[in-house]
Amino acid sequence: MDQNKFNERIQDLVQEAEQKPVRRVKKEKPQLKESIYSLRIDELQDWLKENGEKPFRAGQIYEWLYDKRVKTFDEMSNLSKSLREKLKENFALTTLSTIIKQESKDGTIKFLFQLQDGYSIETVLMRHDYGNSVCVTTQVGCRIGCTFCASTLGGLKRHLLAGEIVEQVVKVQKELDEAGERVSHIVIMGIGEPFDNYDAMMNFLKVINNDKGLNIGARHITVSTSGIVPKIYKFADEELQINFAVSLHAPNQEARQKLMPIARAYKLDELLEAVRYYTKKTGRRVSFEYGLMSGENDSVEVAEELADLIKGIKCHVNLIPINYVPERDYVRTSRSSIFAFEKTLKKRGINVTIRREQGADIAAACGQLRAQERQDEIK
Ligand code: SAH
Repeated sequence: MDQNKFNERIQDLVQEAEQKPVRRVKKEKPQLKESIYSLRIDELQDWLKENGEKPFRAGQIYEWLYDKRVKTFDEMSNLSKSLREKLKENFALTTLSTIIKQESKDGTIKFLFQLQDGYSIETVLMRHDYGNSVCVTTQVGCRIGCTFCASTLGGLKRHLLAGEIVEQVVKVQKELDEAGERVSHIVIMGIGEPFDNYDAMMNFLKVINNDKGLNIGARHITVSTSGIVPKIYKFADEELQINFAVSLHAPNQEARQKLMPIARAYKLDELLEAVRYYTKKTGRRVSFEYGLMSGENDSVEVAEELADLIKGIKCHVNLIPINYVPERDYVRTSRSSIFAFEKTLKKRGINVTIRREQGADIAAACGQLRAQERQDEIK
């Protein structure tokens, strides 16, 4: 992509978010470049052809980017000098810089990265017995407005480009390289609504899933949406093997729209219809996320109502003890109420788990670190 087009695109993304551009523009880098990580392998092949190069070079470049994980274009030693120069002119190899890296006692690492235009985003590495998972951000801020969530404070600033999402994973992988470990799982549950930035999210998926890319298996990737119904149909029709989660948080329309304004646009019955379509089309189950908030949505009666609501849907419920966000009023449900809620669902034959908490000592919930560190961005 040429430089002017790229600058226009970044500008469009900011305007689309209908917010003022951020004040923290890095002065020494007025010329923003497209991240090379934005390109799917077929797009890279096209770019090579357009620039008088052989398309098979795309495989070599991918190997340098995703297998050898080089830090400069000059290290791509099997490419001609002139191709390396062309790459340097047109693309950036790093568009994220680390502002903060916080390590929790349990091994969770939280990163605050700065983008080329000065905005900041969060990425979290979580250690599990089954592998290392990275939670990625898809937007700077969010316009969904869930009343319990820190990511939405200050609204949406702009969408991320695919490369900015891919690079989050590459950055974390480079950290793990020192220990000889690998990123094995991805959850798209950081800041932002992935289905509100659908095309970039899909390109991200294609890059990390490609066997010449990071080669992360579809079944090791989870995407979560607040419930943008038309995109759920679109996603179902992609027929991917990716795990799919829907943030439900309430057992009826009235309660849900109080917590999640998006429910006014896409009603609960429409959402569940789309979810049923997804399970039929893909043959896969859906995971409902349910954040427990004291006195709000956590009683045994509510659990019964929830069981009635999702009866017959091929699903699993993931109960999330809500993280306290200082700007918000909600308080986490007590342990005994969490277990009572779980027991009620189990009795009704619903698959249910309680999300294990990680990184509680480092503000690892969505948007919390950015909210703490970048007061100017959340106003
Ligand atoms: N926008 C997408 C994905 C990002 S959030 C979505 O809404 O699904 C990932 C999950 O964390 C969602 O289920 C979201 O509702 C939940 N979440 C948001 N704020 C939270 C908080 N304070 N404590 C616990 N979970 C929270």
